[in-house]
Parts: sequence; structure tokens; C-alpha cells
Amino acid sequence: MRSLLSSSKNRNFLRSHLDSRTLLAFDFDGTLAPIANDPYRARLRASTARLLSELCGVAPVAVISGRGVRDLKEKVPSSIQLLSGNHGLEAPGVRSRTLRRMAQVSSKWKQQLLKQMKQVEFDTTGILVEDKEFSLSIHYRSAKQRTKVKAALLAMVGHLNPKPRIVLGKFIVNVVAPESPHKGDALLSIMKKVKAKRAVYVGDDDNDEDVFVLKNPRLLTVRVGARNSSKAKYYIKNQRSIDELLGLMIQSLKKSSVD
Ligand SMILES: [Mg+2]
Repeated sequence: MRSLLSSSKNRNFLRSHLDSRTLLAFDFDGTLAPIANDPYRARLRASTARLLSELCGVAPVAVISGRGVRDLKEKVPSSIQLLSGNHGLEAPGVRSRTLRRMAQVSSKWKQQLLKQMKQVEFDTTGILVEDKEFSLSIHYRSAKQRTKVKAALLAMVGHLNPKPRIVLGKFIVNVVAPESPHKGDALLSIMKKVKAKRAVYVGDDDNDEDVFVLKNPRLLTVRVGARNSSKAKYYIKNQRSIDELLGLMIQSLKKSSVD
């Protein structure tokens, strides 16, 4: 992995990749916004929100998140029109019939899960089952004995019927329908929708690897935080670095529109 911002060669490579037809896509939690203990309280910093609005004026901007689209709409500037939620399930080209089926399955899983949670013998304080309409996220960041709780949650979701695809995140166990599209699919369908020639994608978590593994020369991938096992090509140091990256994108795009 290479540092995107600390070498002028890599910064120049980013600049050469950007023009008004490059889709700029971002994950939300841990990428655009700091991770919050309570997921309902996650917010963009005012500076990030301002930069994102400015970026929307010079290129297509998308947010692709595990959150539901309805939730995302309240958290990002209204100038961002391209939103994909539920790990890529809510995206252009996904049929409403598919979504209706996913909603039914997800509500079944929720009932099964809450029933199991009543029967377990460990302390479930701090575990939050988030209903995202088409999938579930089980948060355990605030639980005591997180390692033990994670193992117990994995055992529980292993009993769900029908069997879900399990997507692990930072102190989150996500359950999504096995055949549902992922973030990589969502990115490609948004690129198609806006006729983007190239794209940049920035993410911080395991489910962002679904984008990072895409072998597409038109895509530049960036991870928040270096990690050797990641398939992303570049990294930025941490979540706080996002403003510097957004600023660089804006500066390059404004300059290329003048040149
Ligand atoms: Mg994230």
C-alpha cells in the first residue's frame, strides 16, 4: 500500500486521475465521519460537510454505505444525490421487487434474533440491533467482553433462516441476503448511471474490500488507515486526513477546469 498524500508522485497520480467525469465515491462511517459509539449519533464534521458540498460543484459525488439510504440522506449534504445504502443493496438498477423481498427476509431475521437474545445467558447490555429495512446491523462496540459477545453473536446469526451473508465491520456484525449486490456492484452501477470515465473510492472497513478487489484500471482505491492485507492501492493516514484529501480533489478539479 502506498501513502496517497505524503508523496508528491502519488498526489500527482491522483490529480491525473481526476476530471469532471471522475466519480468520487466514499464510504460514510470511519471515512467521511468519525466512528461514533452510538451509531445514531455519527455526524460529519462541519469542515467535511462544507468540502463535500464544494466537491459536488465540480464532479459527481457518491456515498456508498452500510447505512440505509433514508438514514444517509439526513447525514450528508443535500447536494449529494448519489446515495447507495445497505452495503450496495440500495443502488441504481436494483429492482423494487428484490428490495421488497429483502425487507421481508430482514424483518424475519430480526424477530429470530431478538428471540434468541432473550434466551442467552450472557449480558446483552450494549448490544444494539439496528433495523435498516433491507438488512440488519448488530452493534456491540458498547458491550462488555466484546470478544465473547462477538463469538456469541456469530453463533446466533449462524442459526438465522434463511441463511444470511455475514459482513463483519468494526464492532458490527451485518447480516445481508446472500445474493444481494455489494458495494463493488453499487460503485459500478453508479459509474454507469452517471457515465463516469473513472472513479475514486475511499473506505475504511472490511466491506469496502468488495470495492478494493475490483480489478478495474479506471478505479483508484484508497483505504483510511494502512493495512497490509487490504487490496486498496493507496491509503490515507486516518479519518482526520479526509479533509486534506477532499481539499486536494477540489483544488485539482478547479485547476483542471481552468486549464
Ligand atoms: Mg466504514
